Amino acid sequence: MPVLYTFNVMKKPPPADYLLQVTSYTRKRDWTSRSIGVWCPQLAPSKELTDQVNDWKQNNRLFQNWDGFVVSYLEEQRRKPAHLEQVYRWLEGGRSVALGCFCEEPCVCVRSLLAEIILQRLPQIAVDLR
Ligand SMILES: [Zn+2]
Repeated sequence: MPVLYTFNVMKKPPPADYLLQVTSYTRKRDWTSRSIGVWCPQLAPSKELTDQVNDWKQNNRLFQNWDGFVVSYLEEQRRKPAHLEQVYRWLEGGRSVALGCFCEEPCVCVRSLLAEIILQRLPQIAVDLR
């Protein structure tokens, strides 16, 4: 049974077939010292959108702007559907996928948003969201 995981890449990764780091910026230090899978910036918000999010975070305005972020992020993903389609194919083919990011708060992180999007298409998939 495939499982869709989300995880914080600073913690122990889940036992998935595909570990994807869905961040716009990689952190080389962690990237080389930890086994956190493949960096997949195509599933991350664009750098522009990530900069905006970081700015909101610093000003403590991320929660109030989250809905606007979701709209912008969905629009970005609609323009490059191949990457999300690949994740669907892995899960439909019985492989487990883990989506990782550095954010402490999963509720305002793209890994949780991506999991929501995937579950709309594959509602039968087991999930383990961290
Ligand atoms: Zn995140």
